Amino acid sequence: MNLSKLFENNGDHTVNKNGHNRKLLLKKKIFSILYLEDKKTIADLCTPVNVSIPTMTRLMHELINENWVIELGAGESRGGRKPVFYGLNPFIRFIIGIEITRKYTRINIFDLANRPVGDTLHLDLELDNTPEMLKVLRQQLDIFIEKNDIDRKSILGAGISLPGLLDKKTNINYSYPELGQAPLDFKFSELLEIPSFIEHDTKAIALGESWFGLAKNKSNVLCLNVGPGIGLGMIINGELYQGASGFSGEFGHIQMVPGGELCDCGKIGCLETVASGSAIVAKAKRKINEGTNSIIKKLVDGDTGAIKLPLIIQAAHQGDQFAIELIEESGGYLARGIAILIHLLNPEMIIIGGDLAGAENLLADPIQQKLNKYTLNRIRQDADIVVSELKDKAGLLGTIPVVMNNIFSQEPNIINFNSTLKP
Ligand SMILES: [Zn+2]
Repeated sequence: MNLSKLFENNGDHTVNKNGHNRKLLLKKKIFSILYLEDKKTIADLCTPVNVSIPTMTRLMHELINENWVIELGAGESRGGRKPVFYGLNPFIRFIIGIEITRKYTRINIFDLANRPVGDTLHLDLELDNTPEMLKVLRQQLDIFIEKNDIDRKSILGAGISLPGLLDKKTNINYSYPELGQAPLDFKFSELLEIPSFIEHDTKAIALGESWFGLAKNKSNVLCLNVGPGIGLGMIINGELYQGASGFSGEFGHIQMVPGGELCDCGKIGCLETVASGSAIVAKAKRKINEGTNSIIKKLVDGDTGAIKLPLIIQAAHQGDQFAIELIEESGGYLARGIAILIHLLNPEMIIIGGDLAGAENLLADPIQQKLNKYTLNRIRQDADIVVSELKDKAGLLGTIPVVMNNIFSQEPNIINFNSTLKP
């Protein structure tokens, strides 16, 4: 398939040869303001778009005729006629979110008010089995789009979050070479026949927290993703921090225990080997096999091979001493790492997310206590330690900003304003 076709505007003949159509740029600006800031009056829009009231009135008329904008009633009068509010028609375009993890993939479609149009589709797909995984992903996405009665042409783009070492300069994932050596945004655009944009899983979580979660309206926030591994997404000065190649945030691989256990990455004693969900599960299995008393054993009918992190968290919430200690110990190691981050970056908030966030205060409290010990009081006071409210939804929601930030930064014809799709 010719990829440039995906990104070109279908049927919009107002774009001139060098692609810079002033009207399209103005419409895109209005679109981005209404999308990011909600409803506005014509007068509200004139200053940020930098046009006169008659020009704005004309543009809004066109956007209303093209079904992009709808009238949302009158606001309070400030002396004179009541101003009319306008907003985006939330059903004129849709965003696809795809969260790919090592063991499963989740999909949903969102309208322009960022609301999911259906129940999230959960697929048990192994990322290690890449060719089969990609084939099923395309098939299931097509079924999902059809089931939710979405016109494919009305899809703005797909945001895809992926684990692994994702190079943001080349868009190649070094941890999953089977995904291919071509840029992954092109690969997925071809596979899905939808413009696709890629982000690292923990960074997508940070974007989700920043747009929809506890990090909203905050500029310096660290988002920890404690699951099978440990990742870190950083919002610094209001922007997602990538680093030179997008490899920032490999928090799980800082050395915590000199001479400790071998990590998946090949190094020794990484934070992941003592504080991740996998480390907690491995220790629970070993200790229970050695005779440690815990209700976890009862929860798996004596089959210690069946111990999983959610069961340990459940046992801890039921007051099981051993399970509580496992989580506390993980919290202690995490706190050592977090103390370093606090001293270096002076964040206003640290959000603990990922599978282990289900432990809530059983994890946050020991972290807080250890931080009191490990950090300078004045710097620590700035940093709220909180457990994510979005929990496991942050990653999928984070694919929305992945799409929209890319849409806003590209040529306006990607939005295809003049197309006449069903309202
Ligand atoms: Zn490691």
